[in-house]
Amino acid sequence: MKKVLILEDEENIRSFVVINLKRAGYEAIEAGTGMEALEKLREHPDVGVAILDIMLPDIDGFEVCRRIRATTKQIGIIMLTARTQEMDKITGLMTGADDYVTKPFSPAELTARIDALYRRIGGESGMTSDFLTQGPFVMNLRNHTLEKFGSFIKLTQVEYAIMKLFMQNPGRALSREDILSSVWGKDYDGELKIVDVNIRRLRIKIEDDTANPSFITTVWGFGYKWGA
Ligand code: CA
Repeated sequence: MKKVLILEDEENIRSFVVINLKRAGYEAIEAGTGMEALEKLREHPDVGVAILDIMLPDIDGFEVCRRIRATTKQIGIIMLTARTQEMDKITGLMTGADDYVTKPFSPAELTARIDALYRRIGGESGMTSDFLTQGPFVMNLRNHTLEKFGSFIKLTQVEYAIMKLFMQNPGRALSREDILSSVWGKDYDGELKIVDVNIRRLRIKIEDDTANPSFITTVWGFGYKWGA
């Protein structure tokens, strides 16, 4: 999943951004201070875009930006500026940043800027595509939607996760345990039967003939496989 770091000391703004990042299909990494942001970036070198507030309790956003740029050119940086700050001064200080968004901002505005940055930097660093395609199916990983021959198929979150796992592993036999731990999590201690129940439902939605499934096939005594 594409990662975005949000550095903002005001918790309500930060969580507002996080909610909207998740909704737009990004994984959000949070930091409340400049030093924490730099540490989180070392932990997550695959962060593609960083959103930096300027006024912070320790080092300011410009300094964070400068330090990020000292180690990496690849990451996209968006500064969060307040309307009351003088723009001339800010643009002068913003040398390492790629873009800025003025508070208060709409979630759509912010995600549009992030998307644009991701497109720009993504091309060069070989970021993965937002789509998975298998036969007549197209999965949009950003919007969590699935289409078959161009028609949307409504899926639950669990069905979507199972479908994604299959589409990412075509031709590979997946044990029911594999599916359970990948979709429900390693700590889930429910019954394996839940896998079969969901696959039966998923087949009704995606197969042409549920009696003779051709997309999700059964591997007897083991699990399931995408394709014959
Ligand atoms: Ca602040």
